[in-house]
Amino acid sequence: MRSSILIIYTGGTIGMKTDAATGALVPFDFSGIYEEFPSLKRLNVDIDVHTVDPVIDSSNVEPAHWIALAELIRDNYARYDGFVVLHGTDTMSYSASALSFLLENLAKPVVFTGSQIPIGVLRTDGRENLITAIEIAGAREKGHPVVPEVSLYFQNRLFRANRTTKRSAEALSAFQSDNYPPLAEVGVNITYNRQAILHPAEYPSTLRIATRLSGGIALVKLFPGLGEEILEATFAAPGLRAVVLETYGAGNAPTSERFIHVLREAVDRGIILLNITQCGAGCVSMGLYETGLILQKTGVLCGYDMTCEAAVTKLMYVLGLGLPQSETRDLLRKPLRGEFTV
Ligand code: ASP
Repeated sequence: MRSSILIIYTGGTIGMKTDAATGALVPFDFSGIYEEFPSLKRLNVDIDVHTVDPVIDSSNVEPAHWIALAELIRDNYARYDGFVVLHGTDTMSYSASALSFLLENLAKPVVFTGSQIPIGVLRTDGRENLITAIEIAGAREKGHPVVPEVSLYFQNRLFRANRTTKRSAEALSAFQSDNYPPLAEVGVNITYNRQAILHPAEYPSTLRIATRLSGGIALVKLFPGLGEEILEATFAAPGLRAVVLETYGAGNAPTSERFIHVLREAVDRGIILLNITQCGAGCVSMGLYETGLILQKTGVLCGYDMTCEAAVTKLMYVLGLGLPQSETRDLLRKPLRGEFTV
């Protein structure tokens, strides 16, 4: 059976092509996808293309774009077997993480991809990323999609989206997922890591989307010499609702009276503090050292091995649900879309 795929082009390097006359990079018209890549006709998929208006460099992405993308997927959900989102690489991990939370009860593939070299440049990595992302989005087994979650495909590896971070502005292998194995590795064949892939509780399952993301999130990366006055000013910001604390190692932070006082006072005001590690790999474990234990006693929540992108977007999503504080804290303590391992 043929799969039908909707490609959603949002912008970014992958959509650029060299203009034959001027040599300048101009946007590629993805509606001409079959003329540009005739080999796509050999895949067992039917493709439609939706280009968002306007297409943007992903540095300009805002939460409103994520909600619009979730709505677009919801509106086309019944019509397609899978979705490929073409996105700039700079904030792709944020967008893909956000979509993993916004799309509740997802049972179809949503594969993000992009490229480091424009699609219209001879040595582009975009062609392979695009074609393999389409093949993965259309892959089915026993009547169900092989990867029914939000994923990110780049340079031969498919990752759970909310486990990724852009790691290189240069390498074609631009994304990493240090704390979770690839969902698929691509060589001569596509080898799926089936135990690592999330499936809905049951089929058929009805997609719901969240349409509110909270503002008021701050990200504070600790470093020796971060002045307490700066910290106090950040925590006094009007509208602040939650702070992602990027701490040292396994979740450690200074034990000075003044530092802890700022955190305790914030928790008392109902501000959520979420502890993730600034190390690329590994997990927060607040009971390990005195320096982490104090945070735990102060009411700081453990972010385990979550990426910064997942922590920020999960807070936007969970706080956007408008639940009482205790339910909000409960949702933050558990993985909702496989975003951390306890
Ligand atoms: N600045 C571009 C973007 O993120 C970079 C890229 O697509 O690789 O939109």
